[in-house]
Amino acid sequence: MVKVYYQADVNEGVLKGKRVAVIGYGSQGHAHAQNLRDSGHQVVVGLRPGKSWAQAEEDGFRVLPVREACETADVVMVLLPDEKQPAVYEKEIKPALTAGKALAFAHGFNVHFHQIVPPEDVDVFLVAPKGPGHLVRRTFEEGAGVPALIGVHQDVTGQAKELALAYAKGVGAARAGVLETNFQEETETDLFGEQAVLCGGLTSLVKAGFETLVEAGYQKEVAYFECMHELKLIVDLMYEQGLEGMRHSISDTAQWGDFVSGPRVINEETKERMKEVLEDIQSGRFAKGWILENQANRAEFNAINNREKQHPIEEVGKELRKMMPFVQQKQKRELVK
Ligand code: NDP
Ligand code: MG
Ligand code: MG
Repeated sequence: MVKVYYQADVNEGVLKGKRVAVIGYGSQGHAHAQNLRDSGHQVVVGLRPGKSWAQAEEDGFRVLPVREACETADVVMVLLPDEKQPAVYEKEIKPALTAGKALAFAHGFNVHFHQIVPPEDVDVFLVAPKGPGHLVRRTFEEGAGVPALIGVHQDVTGQAKELALAYAKGVGAARAGVLETNFQEETETDLFGEQAVLCGGLTSLVKAGFETLVEAGYQKEVAYFECMHELKLIVDLMYEQGLEGMRHSISDTAQWGDFVSGPRVINEETKERMKEVLEDIQSGRFAKGWILENQANRAEFNAINNREKQHPIEEVGKELRKMMPFVQQKQKRELVK
């Protein structure tokens, strides 16, 4: 097995006395800033005036405009939405990157696809948590953590990897495991995972199951519980105990159905299409499309987003979740950034 770094393997000393500028205070930003602070590191938050600025101040951070935050920092972690990073980088981050500083990312997209080309005299690394930002914070508070990948794109100080590891430990990732990768592998696997399995694959699977039941005349509430609500309960078991542990908990009837029907739905043909998705990512076709879509003010993104919000599974889900205050509470807490 490859080396996985845990708490005891990482010396966070290299980050002591250094100031980290966390740029952006959204899903990842608030989690990195708060976890690093709780780990004893010096954090300043870089933003534009607005909602996040007020939130970061309320959470007790020193908040500065992006350029000033970068000027005062030794390590600059860029946690803006990927599509906004290149413009902010050119105008506000790059001018503050003096020799020997470190520039960091939570996803390799912009560096790998050459939308950001860092100066040659700074360290460049990534610490990519393998989970949503709100869970990076919540698990940290619970004494746990979300695993992360680290990767070094440029090492001018000779300390880039140590810094990345120390940073990963600071956000709690070494409690769960830190793996070394590079920008290319992180970018391509992350995009593939979210497109084919975690987000795209899953939402399409859930909708297809729900539609099949409703079109066959079953109640949409039953279809919702079956295809969406129960998913979390199953996934929790997989998360904790793997496929075998999940299968131990379900009935033997369900397990037999899993064995005989699962491969009828997801099969070699599906895998062929997954390969096409991966090829689009590897060739840069996906990246180019997303960059152009943003230049076109997201005409297609917004149209699809509006259509998706009106899907019957969303309408019935909203009503049913209202009756489950325990689900609602968690949602509210996580929406507060
Ligand atoms: P968000 O969309 O949550 O980030 C929004 C933040 O960026 C807000 O604080 C917003 O402030 C700020 N912002 C937006 N535009 C500007 C600007 N022009 N100037 C200053 N601040 C600005 O991003 P994510 O946390 O989702 O993603 C950040 C990075 O982390 C990305 O590289 C992503 O790929 C990566 N990542 C994300 C994961 C996730 O869980 N979401 C998982 C792993 C990696 P305002 O309130 O002013 O708009
Ligand atoms: Mg990801
Ligand atoms: Mg991603």
